[in-house]
Amino acid sequence: MSPIRTIAALFLGAALAAASVSCAPPEPYTAETFVMGTAAWVTIAGAGRAEAEKAAQEVFRELHRIESVMSTWKGSSELSRLNAGSRGEPFAVSPELFALADSALRYSRATFGAFDATVRPLVLLWGFQGGKPALPSPGAIDSALALVGCGRVALDTAALTVALPAGMQLDFAGIAKGYAVDRGAAILARRGIRSALVNLGGNIYAVGAPPGARGWRVGVRDPRGGLGTVGAILLADAAVATSGNYENFVEIGGRRYGHIIDPRTGATVDDVLSVTVVAPTALAADALSTGFFVLGHDGAARAASAFGNVAALFALPKGSGIEYKTVGTFGTRLVLEGEQAER
Ligand code: ADP
Ligand code: MG
Repeated sequence: MSPIRTIAALFLGAALAAASVSCAPPEPYTAETFVMGTAAWVTIAGAGRAEAEKAAQEVFRELHRIESVMSTWKGSSELSRLNAGSRGEPFAVSPELFALADSALRYSRATFGAFDATVRPLVLLWGFQGGKPALPSPGAIDSALALVGCGRVALDTAALTVALPAGMQLDFAGIAKGYAVDRGAAILARRGIRSALVNLGGNIYAVGAPPGARGWRVGVRDPRGGLGTVGAILLADAAVATSGNYENFVEIGGRRYGHIIDPRTGATVDDVLSVTVVAPTALAADALSTGFFVLGHDGAARAASAFGNVAALFALPKGSGIEYKTVGTFGTRLVLEGEQAER
C-alpha cells in the first residue's frame, strides 16, 4: 500500500460499444477516489445515475474502512496494533483481520512460500519504504530473513488470536487491495447491480459484463512502463491483477531493483517484467500475481495446477524485447497485440 503508487497497473480499455447504438442504455457511471496509496475507480453500467452514485460511494467508504484496519502505514490500524502488540504471544484480533491473515497463510502455502505476508523486514532493508536505497550486505539479508516466514505465524481459530514470533510483522501490501475489491464488488451485488467494474490500483473485479457485451475489456499495461497496453483481457464475474516492476523499484548503482522480493533468499526478483493473473476473486488474483512473480513461469505452472481456475500471463525479458508465456487457460479471454503468446 505504498503512497507513491498512483497509476493503476491495469485500466479499463476501450469505451463501451453500447453507447453508439440507438436507444442505448445510459452511459456507464464512473467515480474515482484515492485510497490505500493508489487510485480506485468504480464503473457501473445499466443503473440509474442516483443509484450508481450511492453505490459507488458505499464502495469507497468500504475501501477506506479496510485501509483503516489493514494498513501498516497507519499506526492506529488494527494490523499495526497486532504488529506492535504480539511479541510472541497470542493477540486477539477481529474476525475480519483473522480471516485475511488466514488467507495470507493459505496463499503462502499454495505458492511454496513465494508469497509471504511477513516479508516486511526485507522490504525495509532494500529501501522500498524510504531511506537511501543501498545494496544490503549478505549479513543484513540474513538478519532480515530470520524475521521472515509465514510458517511461524500461529493462528488459533477458536480463540481468534494471531501469534507473531518476536520481531515478526504482518504486512498485507500484496493482498489487502484484492480483498478490498472483493468487498466492494459484494456491496454492488447486494445492491442489485449486475454490471460493474471495481478497480483498486490495478486489482480489478468485473461484476457481470457491459450490456450486450461478453465481458469488460481490461487493458494489460506495457510492462516496459508508460501508459500503453500490450493486450486486453475480457472479464466477466472474475478478477484480474498485475504485479510488475515497472512502477515500483529502487535504483542502486545505476541498476533497477523491483519491489517484489523472494522471501526465501531475500533478493529482489528481476527476471520477470510483469505477471497478470485472472482468478475467481480479486484476493486470489492479488496474492497469486505477487507469488507467481517470485516463482517464475515454471514454478507458477506447478502452483496453479492446484487451483484449476486460475490463468496467468508472464511478460519476460528476451533480448531487447518481451516474451509472453501463459499458465493455465485464458481461452478467448486474452488478446495480445502483435506478439504471440506461447501457450
Ligand atoms: P502492488 O502493491 O504494486 O500492487 P503487489 O500486489 O505485487 O504489488 O504487492 C507487492 C508489495 O507486497 C511490495 O511492495 C511489498 O510491500 C510486498 N511484497 C514484496 N514481495 C512480496 C512477497 N514475496 N510476498 C508478499 N508480499 C510481498
Ligand atoms: Mg499482489
